[in-house]
Parts: sequence; C-alpha cells; structure tokens
Amino acid sequence: MPEPRPGTSAPAAVIKMQIVVIGAGQAGLSAAYHLKRRGMAPHKEFVVLDQSPEPGGAWQHRWPSLTLSTVNRIHDLPGMPFAEALDTTATEMPANTAVPTYFAAYEKRFELPIYRPVTVKVVCKRDGRFRIETDRVQFSARGLINATGTWESPYIPDVPGRDRFKGRQLHTKDYKTAEEFRGKHVVVVGGGISGIQLLDEISRVTRTSWVTRRPPEFRQGPFDAEAGRAAVAKVEDRVRHGLPPDSVVSVTGIPFTPAIEAMQARGLLNRLPMFSEITEDGVRWPDGTSLRAEVILWCTGFRSSLDHLAPLMLHGESGGITMTGRLATQAAKDPRVHLVGYGPSASTIGANRAGGAAARELMEFLDLA
Ligand SMILES: Cc1cc2nc3c(=O)[nH]c(=O)nc-3n(C[C@H](O)[C@H](O)[C@H](O)COP(=O)(O)OP(=O)(O)OC[C@H]3O[C@@H](n4cnc5c(N)ncnc54)[C@H](O)[C@@H]3O)c2cc1C
Repeated sequence: MPEPRPGTSAPAAVIKMQIVVIGAGQAGLSAAYHLKRRGMAPHKEFVVLDQSPEPGGAWQHRWPSLTLSTVNRIHDLPGMPFAEALDTTATEMPANTAVPTYFAAYEKRFELPIYRPVTVKVVCKRDGRFRIETDRVQFSARGLINATGTWESPYIPDVPGRDRFKGRQLHTKDYKTAEEFRGKHVVVVGGGISGIQLLDEISRVTRTSWVTRRPPEFRQGPFDAEAGRAAVAKVEDRVRHGLPPDSVVSVTGIPFTPAIEAMQARGLLNRLPMFSEITEDGVRWPDGTSLRAEVILWCTGFRSSLDHLAPLMLHGESGGITMTGRLATQAAKDPRVHLVGYGPSASTIGANRAGGAAARELMEFLDLA
C-alpha cells in the first residue's frame, strides 16, 4: 500500500485507515492531537485531510484588519500555548498570519499527519466502512471525525430581486478592505460581530447604512465562564434534540466594547429593519421606502460545511443532526461519525474540548482504546 507523504498530495490509490479526520482547523488539530496521544499511529491508523492550502484553518482566509486585538479570543490548542509560537503582546498582528503561524508550529511540534490541499468531495458507506472520496485519492476508514467548520458555507438570505441589483454584492467571506468601497454607498446587512466591525471600518471611508433582521442585543458587562457555559448549554440542548444549531451571536449577544461605544457616539448604530426587496440600484422596504446603494455587504453568517456527508443521511426530520455523546459530538444516527466544531463546539475553546471527547469516544466505540 502506498504511503502518503505529509505536506504533499497523497498518491492515487485507496488508502485504508482506522480513522480519518476531515479539516485541520482548531477542531481537527485538537482531534488529531488527542488521537495521537491516545496511541493511534499517524499515517498508518489515522490521517487529517485539509482543503486549505496552508496551516491555519479558516483563519488564513480572514480579512487583514482582523487582528489579535479585534477577535473575540483565540484559545490555545491542547498541549502547546500560543505564546510558544508567537509574541502574544503583538496584539495588532493580523489574525490571518498569527493563527496560521501558530498552527504550523503546532502541526510540526506534534508531527500530525496532515495532507493538504486535499478536498473531501463525498463520504459514503461501503462494506461496513466509510469511503472518503477526495480530489486526490480515496480513503477507507472505520470512523470519521468531521471538522470542516463553516467558512466554506457562507449564508445569504433569499431576498427577492437579488439577481436584479446592478451594484456589487459580497459576503463577509469575500471582504478584504474598506478602501475598495470609497465613494460608494454601502448597505451592511447583519447584526453579528463581523457586521458591526466591518460597518465601523467601512464607515470611516464612505457612506454606510446598517440593516439587521432583529434589533441587535448588546451585552453589558463581561462574558464570564458562567455566561459561556449557559450559551453553550443552549446550543447543546438544540442539537441533542435534532434541531439545527443557532447562530453564535443569538446565544452570546454582542459585547458592548469601547469600540462599539465609539460607534454609537458617531451615530452609526441607528439600524434599519430588514428590507423586503432588492432593486436595480438599491433596496426597498414593504412601505415603499427605498435607499440607493452601490454595494450590499452580506454579513449574514455561515452554515456548517457538511454537504460532503449527505450520503450518510445524518439529518433528521427536525432539520438538524441529532447529536449525542459526552460533549454532543457523536451523530446519533451513526456513532462512528463525530462532528467537532459543530453546534456547541463552534468556538475555539469548544473545538478544543470536542476534539478530545471525540477522539476518546470514537476510539472506544471502535475498540481501539
Ligand atoms: C469572522 C470570524 C471570527 C471569529 N472569531 C472567533 C474568535 O475570536 N474566537 C472563537 O473562539 N471563535 C471565533 N470564530 C469562530 C471560529 O471560526 C471557530 O471557533 C474556530 O476557529 C473554527 O474552527 P474549526 O476547526 O471548526 O473550523 P475552520 O477553522 O473553519 O477549519 C476547517 C478546516 O476544514 C477544511 N475543510 C472544509 N471543508 C473541507 C472538505 N470538504 N475537505 C477537506 N477539508 C475541508 C477547511 O479548509 C479548514 O481548513 C470566528 C468565526 C468567524 C467567521
């Protein structure tokens, strides 16, 4: 059997593994670390397949003005603190270089068996195992840890007239810099943290309007460990009942930071309700009011990237995947599948813990412990 080489594309053949991890962001790296620590042999018993060209998960793709001081908080991966790879006092460092530097050092330190760029196209059941079809080679595995995040699945609501708009529409995922909008009127849609941060940035170079579906809920005071646990418990309850996970902001609220206070003082937080139609040159509300705009920036969030798992038919009647297991990472319909970085573990701290729980439970289930 050909031996794949780390850091390169795998050779063309079906490679048999015990466990395949899909995705090498925070969740996939944590799972890989724990699989190795629990005795699984890298390259021989488990591999990690990652679509991104470099280490860093989705962080490598984020806009340059998102720095270590403007992210919420990036938790350390298990076994190696951020500070060992980077100067953590350099808070103005863009997250899209800082996190990839940290992840690259981490992958090297623990010699994790990561293959990239390898895109998993589809996973199906074959002879009691999983067949993992990629753009390079096929893998066969007894168990699966899926850690594909949300970045590849931007969500834009289906508003009538979207195709008619003659200006530019883009999603948070496509945002690079405010400068490209200079002189244009930008409608920023979305009441989450990204929407507010980008509104702040763009409003410094051009005219903006802010539209949100619901009035944003600003949270006064610190988001302490107890508040964090309560937020996670809410999402966990939903996925344990087979419901699709809520958006992060709907459970955490938006911290009323000094930056947001300054935006309020600049009169930027006068949000408009959601429009009902997009016209050729702007947006229109049900009462006929309209607004001309050259750009619509959709900061309307992401969905879990799970399309490649469709043949496993994990979704239930309530529209979500019923999750079970200690930290709700195990798919109830097929206990050989774990989803990490999904639902209650869709944060850097959650992904860390979920990786450990998934590695342990899956190995126990497959009698590999
Ligand atoms: C703008 C923004 C800011 C955020 N800020 C914070 C923050 O400050 N703190 C925090 O805790 N959380 C934050 N989050 C949430 C954060 O992204 C997650 O907590 C965490 O980084 C996600 O890690 P992950 O491993 O689940 O996913 P990702 O980092 O998205 O990694 C998934 C990996 O899987 C790969 N992949 C996807 N599909 C496939 C496929 N089919 N085949 C192979 N590989 C595939 C991708 O290429 C990627 O490398 C933020 C999210 C956004 C969108």
